[in-house]
Amino acid sequence: MRITRHPLAACPTCRRPIDAATSVTTDACPEPGDFSVCVTCGEILRYREDLTVRKCEAPELDDPGLPQHERAVIERVSRAVRSRWLARLGETP
Ligand SMILES: [Zn+2]
Repeated sequence: MRITRHPLAACPTCRRPIDAATSVTTDACPEPGDFSVCVTCGEILRYREDLTVRKCEAPELDDPGLPQHERAVIERVSRAVRSRWLARLGETP
């Protein structure tokens, strides 16, 4: 597991400042176009060219360059974090 610092940006959903990434599957560093998940709200994010993050639109997960097993990890982590976040807010997933 590797922690990489990158330019500061806010999660578009929960506004949490994000300036670092932790790879859950390899010792990879984020690169433009890579996917990520906000650890506060579970929003699926994507890195811009300047390595700030933006909300990932659902059709982007159909990117043929995204292996199915990686998509499955992204969606599983997102669901787990989102469920925890919604429970904290008193909502059901
Ligand atoms: Zn968030």
